[in-house]
Amino acid sequence: MAIIESQIDAMEEAQQRLQLAALFHALADPTRLLILEHLKTGEHKVKDLTEHLGLAQSTVSAHLSCLKDSGLVSVRSQGRASLYSLSHAQDLAAVQSQALRLGRPANRNHQWHEGHPSPEGGV
Ligand SMILES: [Zn+2]
Repeated sequence: MAIIESQIDAMEEAQQRLQLAALFHALADPTRLLILEHLKTGEHKVKDLTEHLGLAQSTVSAHLSCLKDSGLVSVRSQGRASLYSLSHAQDLAAVQSQALRLGRPANRNHQWHEGHPSPEGGV
């Protein structure tokens, strides 16, 4: 029994690591952080986000897809439009302020390796 339970614990821990990795991936892009920041002002259509942030629609759509997959952003339909909003605005703000205490001021020499798009590179 104990062996089975420890295997279940290990599986749950592995699942949690994947969940955290997906969440931190979603938070690991300056443009996605900008979109999250802007969604604090209220829900937006993709078109409005592109106008308000001065970004291409394809860029905004790709980032919103990532943010939706991570659970950070929710979407609802209104007629033919989709409205995007923060799923957990307060928890996100808490995570961000805690993370700022952990991190250092932005390091411009940070190496964005090949498998990982640069902040300027898009998704
Ligand atoms: Zn706006």
